[in-house]
Amino acid sequence: MATKKQNTETKKQAAKNGHKAESKQTKSILNEQHGHSLLGLNFRKSENFGEWYLEVIKKSDIVDERVPIKGFNVLMPEGYEIWHIMMDRLDSMLKRIGVRNYYFPLLIPERFLKKEAEHFKGFSPETAWVTHAGETKLEERLAIRPTSETIMYEMFKLWIRSYQDLPLKANQYTNIVRWDTKSTKPLIRDREFLWHEGHSAHASEEEAEKEVGEILKIYRSLITGVLGIDYIELIRPEWDKFAGAEYSVALDAVMPDGKILQIGTVHNLGQNFSKPLEMVFLDSEGKKKYPYQLSYGVTTRLLGALIGIHGDDRGLILPPEVAPVQIAIVPIYTKDSREKILEKCSEIFGRLEKSFRVMLDDSEKTPGFKFHQHELKGVPLRIEIGPKDLEKKQVTLVRRDFLEKIPVEEERLESQISEAFDSVFLQLKKRSEENLIVRDAKNFEELKSSLNAGGFVRINFCMRESCADKIKADTKAEVRGTLFSIEEKVAGGCAACGQKANAKAYVARAY
Ligand SMILES: [Zn+2]
Repeated sequence: MATKKQNTETKKQAAKNGHKAESKQTKSILNEQHGHSLLGLNFRKSENFGEWYLEVIKKSDIVDERVPIKGFNVLMPEGYEIWHIMMDRLDSMLKRIGVRNYYFPLLIPERFLKKEAEHFKGFSPETAWVTHAGETKLEERLAIRPTSETIMYEMFKLWIRSYQDLPLKANQYTNIVRWDTKSTKPLIRDREFLWHEGHSAHASEEEAEKEVGEILKIYRSLITGVLGIDYIELIRPEWDKFAGAEYSVALDAVMPDGKILQIGTVHNLGQNFSKPLEMVFLDSEGKKKYPYQLSYGVTTRLLGALIGIHGDDRGLILPPEVAPVQIAIVPIYTKDSREKILEKCSEIFGRLEKSFRVMLDDSEKTPGFKFHQHELKGVPLRIEIGPKDLEKKQVTLVRRDFLEKIPVEEERLESQISEAFDSVFLQLKKRSEENLIVRDAKNFEELKSSLNAGGFVRINFCMRESCADKIKADTKAEVRGTLFSIEEKVAGGCAACGQKANAKAYVARAY
């Protein structure tokens, strides 16, 4: 509703400033040229999130899913650039705690993958195997990495000799393949995806436990602090933890359709890998010990969450810190004013280029077309410069979220941009916080009705898998886990079976 009103106001405002909105004729020509409606989206986010999502990632050049292999897509330049910027930010945070980057092989010998029995059992159903080289059958099957614990730790074993080699903190940016049998959705459920995977080995359990907290802090700084996405940290139930972990902490965000998306994980592996792999170090007294380990990662799902959570009916809205183009300058001129306006735009571009990722859109397309393009791609700020602006020694700043037009004196431009960036970011973050809904339910009936409203439902729970299965069968919702940071008080019976509850569990329908 709010968007509709703002659109009308924007048009009025544009007319006042002499910024002509695109005519119907232009629109139809453009549609013919591109074979579909480039101006605006056909689906509304609030009415049909699923179709809106697919339309927006396609039209904003994030993903092209026309690859004829299910679950394998092209990550297009717009999407890939955002991913890179996010990973660059993460990289500097990881380096600060001593993590170094490596690149490990794509293939894992089957015998490596088999060493930790639970791990193999968990991953083998969705592992893709290399069995032949040309026509020759290989002596041993090689797994295309579904995750790299086993190949990495076989090497860790060679590198770790004494306590002085610890902690060992390794990370890699790479792709993985998991042959998921569920229905696929670009960036949300792909069979091949990009991720970063961090792996560490520590001399003591306490150190490993402390590292879990450090990584969670880093993820919070990136995901909430930079991307403006709120989420909760849940310890997954025993039956749903990472195959081979002592416990898994998962970051669960709420998508606009009320379904939950896991956007990151930290697994405390204890000695579950170091023991079967015989990874041994000598402590300061010369005694043989097994290191404690953890692994953690975020995937291109985070990009799917960013698009889904922040976008609106006009397209993406990117948080300024990760937008490949932070500011688009659009000249608005008549025949007579063309030269002067373009000159001013170049001057402003040259100035802003020093501090921001800025583009000057001086192509021959109409301003209206350009506005739509930059709005579709989520460029956080647009600068319009027309004859009136020139006269008043000002520019017109337009925020992507509210499409509000702010006249700004040329002299104060840089500081006004920084303020507007902060304000766009805070607005996105606020909306995401508001969308992170947790409702309480006392019994099974309440659970059922609350689930239909979307988001998380908190219940008293006995922590038995059979009860989780019952909930799943009746409601299609999953027991996602218990809060990581606080142990919540529990009194009364399990919402599913009525027997003594052991924890407050968070239940939700999920992707
Ligand atoms: Zn129960």
